[in-house]
Amino acid sequence: MRRSEAMSQDNVRRSRRTILVVEDTHAEGRARFKSVSATLDYLEASQISRLRDSIQNSRISGKSRFLCGECREPVYLSLSGCSHFSHHANGPKNCPWNTISRHPEVIDTEKFAGRQESPEHRELKALLASTLAIDPGFSEIRTEEVVSCPPAWRKPDVIAKFGPDEIAFDIQLATTQMPTIYEREKFYQSNSIRYIWLISTKNVIELQRQGFQDIYWHNHGQIFEIDEKIAMISREIGRAFLYSLTIEPEFRNGTFKSIWKREPISISGLDWSAETFRPARKKSFADCFRHWVSIHGWDDSRKKLINAARDQSRRREFELIWRSLEGQLAIPDWHEAEKFDPFKTVGVLSTVAAGQKLDASRFSPDEIPQIINDFLEKNSCRGWTATLKTIAEAYNKNELLEVKSSTVTKIERNLMEEHPDLKSRFLPILCILFPKAALDLLGKVPTEIQNA
Ligand SMILES: [Zn+2]
Repeated sequence: MRRSEAMSQDNVRRSRRTILVVEDTHAEGRARFKSVSATLDYLEASQISRLRDSIQNSRISGKSRFLCGECREPVYLSLSGCSHFSHHANGPKNCPWNTISRHPEVIDTEKFAGRQESPEHRELKALLASTLAIDPGFSEIRTEEVVSCPPAWRKPDVIAKFGPDEIAFDIQLATTQMPTIYEREKFYQSNSIRYIWLISTKNVIELQRQGFQDIYWHNHGQIFEIDEKIAMISREIGRAFLYSLTIEPEFRNGTFKSIWKREPISISGLDWSAETFRPARKKSFADCFRHWVSIHGWDDSRKKLINAARDQSRRREFELIWRSLEGQLAIPDWHEAEKFDPFKTVGVLSTVAAGQKLDASRFSPDEIPQIINDFLEKNSCRGWTATLKTIAEAYNKNELLEVKSSTVTKIERNLMEEHPDLKSRFLPILCILFPKAALDLLGKVPTEIQNA
C-alpha cells in the first residue's frame, strides 16, 4: 500500500471514531482504560466479529463490557465504515463523544473535547519522541498511549520510562484550547507519574495567556520548551535536552524587573525532589533575588534598615540609610518618602513577614494584631495595605491579618479608598527588604526572553 493511501485510510478511521478511549470492565489497573486504536486496529475481521458477540452477550447479561471513556455509559462495536465504538440510541445526550443525531459539523468541532490535534502539535510530538529516543536514559517511548489509572485516565502526548520511573509530557500550544491544567497535574501526581509541560513559543507575549500562566505559576515560574534547535543539540550530544524557561529578576536602570531566562537543560538532570512530581527549579526566584541583593552589597543596608526601624531613637539613622540608597535605587527621596511614614512601615511589614514584633511601637510583643490595626488606621500608612497583603501572603502569614475582624474590615476599607500606588513607587526597596515576596511584588509577567 502506498503511503498516501495508508494516510488517507488513517484519516477515515479518525473521522469515524469519536469515542477515542473505552473502559474495559473486564480489565484492571493500567489495562482498564484503552485507546480505541490499541483495542481494535490489530484485530482481524474474525476477531472483531467475536468481540462484537462478546459485547452483545455482556450487555444482555446486564454487565456491559465496554464503556465510553468520557461519560462511562455502555457502548457497542460498530462495523459501518471502519470498526468503531458507538453510544446506544438512548445514550447520554451530553457526552461530547456521543454523535447520535447530531450534525457532522458540530461533531467535528467538539469531537475531541478540546483535544483536537493540529499539524504543528503532531510535529512537536514526533520531535519530542525522537529526541527522547536518542537518550539512553529513556525507554518504552510511546505517543498514543492511554494511561489508565482507574477511576481515571489521561492521554499524554508522550510517555516514556526513565529508569524505574515514568515521565509523561504534554505539549501546549497557544493556538489550541487550554485544557484543565489542574486536573491533569493532579492525575499524574496522585499516580506517581512525573509530568512535564512543554510549550513552543515563537512569541514571548503568548506566555501572558492565562492557560500558560496556570502552567508556570503552578511550577514556581518555570516552563519548558522544545524546538528544532534544541532537538539538534540533543542529537549532537546524544542526550535529550529541553529549554527551561524560568522567571528571574533583573536589575536595570535602578529598578528590578522580571525576565524569562532560557537555557538548555538535560531531562536526565532535572530535579524531581518536589512532591508535585513536576521538575523543581534549580534555584527559586527568591534565591535568585537574594543573589542580586548580595552582589550589589545591599545585604548590609537591608539589615541596618530593619534593625533601625525597631527603635524610636534610631529614626535619624534610618533616614541616613534610606538617603544612601536613594541614588542607587529608583525610589522616592526621603523628603517625598516621609509622607508615607517609611520608618513605621518597614517596622510593621517586617513584623508581619517575621511573625514577631520588629517595629518601634509601644505595643507588647504579643500584640501583633494591634500593631497591624494601628498601622492600617494611620492616614499616612493606608496606601500600604496592598503591599501588606502581598507580603503576608508570600511569607505565609495571612492568618495575622485575619485574627481580628476589625483588621479584615480596615483592610477592605483601605483597599476601596484611593491611594497612590506605593507598591510600584517603592518597588526596589520593598524587594530588597522582602525577597520572598519579590516575585509577587514585581507582579507582571515578563515580556522579554534572555538566553543564558
Ligand atoms: Zn460517552
